[in-house]
Amino acid sequence: MVSVLPRAAKLGGMALNLLFPQRCIGCGQEGDLICSSCCSSLPRVMPPLCPRCGRPQPNGILCSNCVSWSAEIDGIRSPFRFDGVMRQASYQLKYRNLRALAAPLAQMLNNYLVTNPVPGEVLVPVPLHQKRLKERGYNQSSLLVKELAKLSSLPAMDDCLIRQRHAPPQARTSTVDERQSNVAGAFTSRDQRLRDKQVLLIDDVATSGATLNACAVALKAAGACSVWGLVLAREI
Ligand SMILES: [Zn+2]
Ligand SMILES: [Zn+2]
Repeated sequence: MVSVLPRAAKLGGMALNLLFPQRCIGCGQEGDLICSSCCSSLPRVMPPLCPRCGRPQPNGILCSNCVSWSAEIDGIRSPFRFDGVMRQASYQLKYRNLRALAAPLAQMLNNYLVTNPVPGEVLVPVPLHQKRLKERGYNQSSLLVKELAKLSSLPAMDDCLIRQRHAPPQARTSTVDERQSNVAGAFTSRDQRLRDKQVLLIDDVATSGATLNACAVALKAAGACSVWGLVLAREI
């Protein structure tokens, strides 16, 4: 009986696939969730970059925002701009329960890390507040970390950071200072395992980097020696 259940589930999955074949979220073509053609046209963040925030910056020097930003996050990197198919992908992963996207998206993060190494020996997802986690049923950043851990062989530490306050959604027009004070103190950590660790913090999307920085404050207070952020897509 025990062995019948997974088999039935598998057959059910196959039947479901026949009825509703998997389609590319960009162009609708049957096959992969992001087809090779849409994949090759994804909007990439092209160097030279500001070494801190990772936004494109002529000559690769600190951008004007970062010159005056006393950040705890050591650096932020992102393979893609939050645009086009990548915008659709993060929407589907976050709000439409398309959890299967986590695997191909984590593969993209891993490919990026191979060619653009970022310091990190443990993977930590940006957590959701408990209330939001209950509503959504999953944390999209945890899904990415789970898949990335398999590909990169870096260990995942999914529960070392706690979001103690849910900040209201940030208006696109809010300034960097407003965003910073909005999330300041929203995270906490007391995990001993973080001591002297290089943390690679993972999220799906970043805008100003204020959330990543607030996480970095908590992770360093718990003993992390460095915190870099790696996000799938960046609003630029
Ligand atoms: Zn496509
Ligand atoms: Zn910068």
